[in-house]
Amino acid sequence: MVMYYLTLAEAFERLEKTPSYLEKNSIIAELLRQTPPEEIERVVLLLLGRTTPAYVSQETGVGLAQLKKAVANASGYSLSEVERLMREIGDLGEVARKLMEKKKQVTLFTERLTVKRVFEGIRRLPEITGEGSVDRKIIAISELLTSSQPLEAKFIVRTVLGDLRIGVAEGRLRDAIAAAFKVDPEEVEHAYMLTTDYSLVARAAAEGGAKGLRQLGVMVGHPVSPMLAQRAEDIAEILERMKGKAAFEIKLDGIRIQAHKDGEKIYLFTRRMEDYTSMFPDLIPPLRQALKPRQVIVDGELVALDKKTGKPMPFQEVLKRRRKYGVEESAEAIPVEFNIFDVLLVDGKAMLDEPYVKRRETLEKIVEEVEGRVKLVEQRVLSDAEKIKEFSDYAIKIGHEGLVAKELNSTYRAGRREFLWLKLKPVLETLDLVVVGGLYGKGKRAGVFGSYVLAARDAETGKFKTVTKCGSGYTDEDLVELTKMFKKLQIREPHEDVEIEIDCDAYFKPEVVFETAYEEIQVSPAEKHTSGMGLRFPRFIRVREDRRPEEATTVQEIEELFELQERRKGKRA
Ligand code: AMP
Repeated sequence: MVMYYLTLAEAFERLEKTPSYLEKNSIIAELLRQTPPEEIERVVLLLLGRTTPAYVSQETGVGLAQLKKAVANASGYSLSEVERLMREIGDLGEVARKLMEKKKQVTLFTERLTVKRVFEGIRRLPEITGEGSVDRKIIAISELLTSSQPLEAKFIVRTVLGDLRIGVAEGRLRDAIAAAFKVDPEEVEHAYMLTTDYSLVARAAAEGGAKGLRQLGVMVGHPVSPMLAQRAEDIAEILERMKGKAAFEIKLDGIRIQAHKDGEKIYLFTRRMEDYTSMFPDLIPPLRQALKPRQVIVDGELVALDKKTGKPMPFQEVLKRRRKYGVEESAEAIPVEFNIFDVLLVDGKAMLDEPYVKRRETLEKIVEEVEGRVKLVEQRVLSDAEKIKEFSDYAIKIGHEGLVAKELNSTYRAGRREFLWLKLKPVLETLDLVVVGGLYGKGKRAGVFGSYVLAARDAETGKFKTVTKCGSGYTDEDLVELTKMFKKLQIREPHEDVEIEIDCDAYFKPEVVFETAYEEIQVSPAEKHTSGMGLRFPRFIRVREDRRPEEATTVQEIEELFELQERRKGKRA
């Protein structure tokens, strides 16, 4: 059964005219019901103003200038007439319609355009390449327009321009497909999460209803909506929600990437289903080597490494540089490393419904790590709060954000943000605090300072007031180095600019600034900390050699951060 493009153009016109959500829905649902199943994919894509799903970057290579020529050719009016009307109306679609209307009065239309003919005509535009391709594209569009009714011309022009303007966003199709084929919108959405392609979803619903939808699964080459994480307040919350035990993975700070391998072909998709394959050519051969199955989909985080320190770098930087200096140069200057943490498909078998433990086990079998390029995310199954804290400290120490806890039996819930993955990002922000005192360590740490008393500057009086005693985050080497440094700054009594109540083994001239991480700010009695504020779980990050004590965080700033933190907590509750 053929479907004529005019049916579609008429529906587009009605969609453009109505602002009502419900009415738009029923127009689309009606259209889909009328569409023969073999045409449904084309109709859905054309409704979205495209000929490929959104994750395929599609450039027709035709701009406004070429389209104006095509409109002139097809209508028989001069280019200057097209330009004149364009200035008056501002929409080349409407201009085309007007001119075709005038032409209609003098010619007879011979052939009726089918959906297939229009779809294929537009879809093939990017394939016209090489010498004279611009002119050949203009001819191809002119041919379509010559056979068009005025209304059809309007929407063909707009589709080629990539600006359909009928108010149909991807999200709306969920309800329209559900209404058209009497299926549950939730099931439509789920099928979309797995395929990211409403044209396939609509066809499955049209041909098989709910059962058809359930048969749709993940496919290599089609991005899957990634599973997301909720935020946990603290370790106790995680242990409570996950019944005392969970897998803990390092939370890397890069970009979420889903890598698909299909034979020799590799695709990289972002969290928003954009195709980033061409952005990281340096990653393709290592991925081919690392992923052993012929067909596989894995999920992970791409991080950029600082060539000197080997530590992760802020990813926004990398993307900016790639745009500025070109892909090749930055690939050389900033190596990227893909850290895999999940698997969604292996050789045709979907893994989403397998429990986390099984998926991790599979990953360990199918990934062969490639030094500095592809590896598995570091993971530990833990139940002891101390051990979890230690792992989290370690993650932060080596430059990462914290941990993600994963429920051991959880399936992969595409596109969902639930409590099966919990992020533990203890650091709100870091503070730059001045070191004013030290206490000797015990046992293994005897003979060196094992913790330091840190102070913030009171912006009003200029005095340094204590905030916390910090005994973690140091490596053994740090402790030795720091002790050497502070011995030189040691004084008999607290410095005159320092207000301190805590008894220390040593007091220092307020000269060194520590960057300090923490989990939470608390109110503290003034007999303990003279600033009136305290920190929960303070951790040494590094000495800020570039900071003078006058530039340290102020008591007033900490008070503000405290307010902010309480407000955020209120919101979450
Ligand atoms: P957020 O963006 O703060 O909501 O945190 C979730 C994001 O953390 C994910 O989308 C990933 O990009 C990232 N991430 C880093 N490491 C992991 C991991 N081991 N497991 C899951 N997500 C991770």
